[in-house]
This record gives sequence, C-alpha cells and structure tokens, in this order.
Amino acid sequence: MFRSEQLFERAVKVMPGGVNSPVRAYQSVGSTPRFIRRADGAYVYDVDQNRYIDYICSWGPMILGHNNMKIREAVIQASYEGLSFGAATEMEVNMAERICRLVPSMEMVRMVNSGTEAVMSAIRAARGYTGRNKIIKFEGCYHGHSDSLLVKAGSGVMTAGIPDSLGVPEGCARDTLTAVYNDCDSVARLLEENKGEVAALIVEPVAGNMGVVEPCPGFLQGLRDLCTEHGAVLIFDEVITGFRLSLQGAQGYYGITPDLTTFGKIIGGGMPVGCYGGRREIMQTIAPCGSVYQAGTLSGNPIAMAAGLAELTQLEENPDIYLRLEEMGNYFRDRLRDILKAAGKSYQVTGVGSLSCLFFAEQPVLNYQTAKTSDTAEFARYFNWMLDHHIHLAPSQFEAIFLSAAHTKKDVDETLDAAEEFFRA
Ligand code: PMP
Repeated sequence: MFRSEQLFERAVKVMPGGVNSPVRAYQSVGSTPRFIRRADGAYVYDVDQNRYIDYICSWGPMILGHNNMKIREAVIQASYEGLSFGAATEMEVNMAERICRLVPSMEMVRMVNSGTEAVMSAIRAARGYTGRNKIIKFEGCYHGHSDSLLVKAGSGVMTAGIPDSLGVPEGCARDTLTAVYNDCDSVARLLEENKGEVAALIVEPVAGNMGVVEPCPGFLQGLRDLCTEHGAVLIFDEVITGFRLSLQGAQGYYGITPDLTTFGKIIGGGMPVGCYGGRREIMQTIAPCGSVYQAGTLSGNPIAMAAGLAELTQLEENPDIYLRLEEMGNYFRDRLRDILKAAGKSYQVTGVGSLSCLFFAEQPVLNYQTAKTSDTAEFARYFNWMLDHHIHLAPSQFEAIFLSAAHTKKDVDETLDAAEEFFRA
C-alpha cells in the first residue's frame, strides 16, 4: 500500500473527508489525494517519492514557483525577531504602502488572514458605507465561505454539487441576489427591482472558480457604469487575479477601476493572508476610524508580511514575468486547442495570462449554466490519466490551471504530450 493511501486512511478517521479544505479531496474524481511532502519550483513531491509538475500552485500564491529562495530567506530572517506581536509593525506599513503604490484604486488597505475574511469584511464596509443591506454576486463565482456569500457559489461547492450550504440561515442568504456572469442585463434588472437597496456588487473580474471564464468585452465596464448609476459599491474580488494577471491585477489588465478590492493568498507568498481596500472614504468607515467593526489578532502578521513583501518585490523588479506567463499561457492554450482539434474533440479551452481551463463542454463557456454542461466523468478520466503521468491538476473540472514563472516550456510540453496521448487513446 502506498504511503499516501495509508495517510488517507488515518486522515478520514480524524478529519472530515480526510482534508482541511474540500477542494483538496479527490472524491469527485473517484480517487484519494496524494499527500505532498515538499515542493520546489514547478514541482511537488509526494510522500511516495513521486514528482509531479504542479498546476495548482497552492491555488495561486506560488506565481514565482514553489519554495522561492528569497521568500524563504525573508521568512527565516523575520522569524528571528519573533512570530507575532499583536501590535503595530513597520513591515505592515511597508506592505500597505506597497499595495497602494502598485494598485491605483487602493487608497487604504486593511490586512486580514484569508480571502474569505477579506471579502466578508469588504462587504461589511460596503454595507456600512451605503447604509444598505443587499448585495449582488454572480452564479458560479466563489468569494470564500462566509454565510452571505455561500449562495450559488463556485469552487468546491460546485464540484460537490451542493446548491447552497446547510448551516447558512435563510436570513443570511436573503440579502444576497445572484446575477448571470457576462450578462449586464441580469444585473440591471436586479438593481432596478431593488432600487436604493443594493450596497455592493461583487465580481471575480476573471471568474476562476467555475473553471476559468473570461469577462466578455464590455462586461466589466458595464458593471462599473451600473454601480455608479445606482450608488452601489463595485467590489473586485481579486483573490485569484490580483498580482497574477498584472502588477495591477485584473483591474489594471482590463482598465476598470473598482471601489473596493480584495486580495488573498498571493500577497502572502504562501503564508495565510488577505487584504481589502480601496476608496479612502469607504475605508474610513472601518474601526477605529469609523463604526464598521473588523479586527484580527494575527492580521498583519510579521512573517506573512515578510513573505508577501519578498514576493511582491520580485514581481515588481521583474515585470517580464507577466509577459512570459502570458506567452506561456497562450502557447499552452493554443497547443491544447490544436490537440483537441486533431483528436476531433470540440471541448473548450479558456483562459487569460497564466490562468487556463479545459472544459469538457461542447459549447462556449460564458457563465455558470454553460460551465455546468461539462462532462465531469470525462474530466475525471482525464484527471486520473494526467496524475498517472505525473501531472498535478486540481481534482475538479471547475478550477483553474495555474502557471508559475518556474514552469519551463519543457514542463508545459511534457504536460501537453500526456494530454495528447489521452485524447488519442
Ligand atoms: N475569493 C476568491 C475569488 C477565491 O478564489 C477564494 C479562494 N480560492 C476566496 C475568495 C477565499 O479565499 P480563502 O480560501 O483564502 O478564504
């Protein structure tokens, strides 16, 4: 028996599903997780000494590749000074200044410990600022697991086929309205029907939790215009796209300015971090400036700040990384499309920059409904084939394929060769 299997047997006895986050489970692909012992560059190594080319990249933060030397050194150095003070530090000022300098829409930021917390807090700020309660989100977008956002969500919720979570009181979900991604009219209707009641519209500027779905031309600008017209706060959830599509995130990439933005894991270089921020007058409603309460014992943790700053510094000093990732992403998607065409398959390859997805769907994927037409049984066969060929993909049709600066053309070609064999077979 493999050590991963032995560990899984132990894990399921003491942890729900044997995992600490449902997206790590291999349930939907009919297998059991590989337990990872270490990672380096583009590779992860499991407890059975297998090496895999990794396309999960810790679900985004490892844009520089795993175990980046400068991030590791920064963490080690910071740890000599102490792991947490629960007090103000210079490092968190540096981090806030850095984010505000790099992302023009960020006039003030508040650090938190996860993407979930960032979004939950941004929503509270928007409600406090506008004095309104309702929010609009899109079907298939995932914004963390807080009560009011676990409505028609993507990511693990979609993989498990759970429409809405048990344990979310009706009252919490009542104020969450859902619109159709890439459909501004669906948003306009909700805003009209709930005139003067919508505090915020939250969107993943590139949807990355129902697979990867790009915004159609005009969609994000349409949302910007609608929010301005109706006095609703436009929140870009850039937990996946932030510092990944560009140094200014998706907002820089597409040239749209949101009112508030949430960032997550990527600004922690692998440490647990998130932040939210944006327009000064909204952020000044946050305690102790204003009356919107939000706090955190470990927020702005010095080790996490050191890791994040080391990551952001490298991204800023090497802007070529984004060009390379874009080129590599285009190459990956183009060759995958060629492979599918040659095999007579009409599946959809989507993506932008370093984010890609192969939908086992026959029709173009524009939103949750079309993403759901994917043949998940065929995806499961593909996933297991790729895993057997030492390619580590997310164990779900509805997640992104992440490229990092550490992936070489050779890695990508090896991956595509395995895919080609699968589709030929
Ligand atoms: N928003 C988006 C867009 C996400 O992709 C995620 C998680 N992948 C979250 C929020 C929640 O972040 P976390 O898992 O750090 O709570």
